Amino acid sequence: MPLSLQSFPTVGEAQSALSAGAARYMGGGTLVVRAANEGDLSFETFVRATDRSLREISVADGTATLGASVTMAEIARHPELSTIASAARAVGGPAVRNMATVGGNLFAPAPYGDFSVALLALDATVHTGGRELLIEEFLAGRDAFDGIVTSVRFQLPAADAFRFAKVSRVKPKGISVLSIAAVIEEAADGTVGAARIALGCMGDRPMRATAAEKALVGKTLTEDGIADAVAAIGEGTAPLTDAVASAWYRGEVLPVHFRRLMLA
Ligand SMILES: Cc1cc2nc3c(=O)[nH]c(=O)nc-3n(C[C@H](O)[C@H](O)[C@H](O)COP(=O)(O)OP(=O)(O)OC[C@H]3O[C@@H](n4cnc5c(N)ncnc54)[C@H](O)[C@@H]3O)c2cc1C
Repeated sequence: MPLSLQSFPTVGEAQSALSAGAARYMGGGTLVVRAANEGDLSFETFVRATDRSLREISVADGTATLGASVTMAEIARHPELSTIASAARAVGGPAVRNMATVGGNLFAPAPYGDFSVALLALDATVHTGGRELLIEEFLAGRDAFDGIVTSVRFQLPAADAFRFAKVSRVKPKGISVLSIAAVIEEAADGTVGAARIALGCMGDRPMRATAAEKALVGKTLTEDGIADAVAAIGEGTAPLTDAVASAWYRGEVLPVHFRRLMLA
């Protein structure tokens, strides 16, 4: 079956082509082209939008807006995004990061989606065709989503508030055993004032670790202070079994890596 590629200057035109059927939107193509090469017959046309705004990064008043076509490499080298660069650098090797987009990462099934784990911890909003969705809402409904994501937006955390760890067996660019992203805000007395923790590979898509978040608030980031959160970090998870790791293994090592990340 021949495959065609249609590029449109605006998101609106790309959306119309997408809605016509048998088409898939293409960001960087790292997953969708591979799917076609592997025999996915559910589409015969790749649709792209070349609208410049999709490639823009803006940081104003502490708020970052990343166009959906911004690549992981662009995030990793942007001087105003250094706080979250570790999450972009965790995605694949250099060749993949040069192509892999923010928009595509939002749809990447586990064990992929490392950057989306960070976006979940950052409480990002996802923008699409005039709508703005909380990232949790977006991730919950992404299988039925048939629009085009145009950008994501989030408050940049303070330099030492963002923590990210990707656990993989092949260094430096193996896919995830699991990933953890956290935004930990300290109160004036040195205890944790607020915490948002997100996990990758502990379900079929990035998920919050709400029990561990609750257990951290009011505590110090010490061995004793984090003990309850470490005990609760796996609560509600349904880890993946795949070629990288079993669900059992993921469940066993999550508290180990979470503890290290909180004490780092
Ligand atoms: C060798 C290799 C290693 C990888 N390693 C990692 C890794 O370590 N971590 C990781 O997270 N990922 C990894 N990936 C997966 C992938 O590269 C990334 O998740 C990437 O961010 C996907 O983005 P993309 O633009 O290439 O997506 P595409 O392949 O273009 O698209 C993926 C899906 O998202 C949809 N989509 C893309 N953009 C939009 C949009 N703007 N609006 C609506 N739908 C959209 C497409 O229709 C498609 O269904 C790897 C892939 C490969 C091939």
